[in-house]
Amino acid sequence: MEYQVINNKTNKVEQVFYTQEDAMECVDFDYSFATHSIIEVISCRGYHRFGCENEGHERHDWYGISTGHWCDECYESKYPYKKSRYATEEYDGYGERLSDDY
Ligand SMILES: [Zn+2]
Repeated sequence: MEYQVINNKTNKVEQVFYTQEDAMECVDFDYSFATHSIIEVISCRGYHRFGCENEGHERHDWYGISTGHWCDECYESKYPYKKSRYATEEYDGYGERLSDDY
């Protein structure tokens, strides 16, 4: 997890820290909370597996259990968890569609 110190005027990242305390101290001493804010950036879990450097968003499996933070790209193509208990319908054709010639 990263903490970015953002300049409110320019929206630029001025500093990056790995703990919130460090980021707070930096803004406190070097800048000001009136002009700068801190945002928390959680990187995609694909970073460790595929070298992905995108920002991740929390995902859940179909039990509702958090599977960590994944970016859209990894979520679509490389996500190693079950997204839904009905996922096989789409691919395997199991489902409720009736055949045309019944
Ligand atoms: Zn990713």
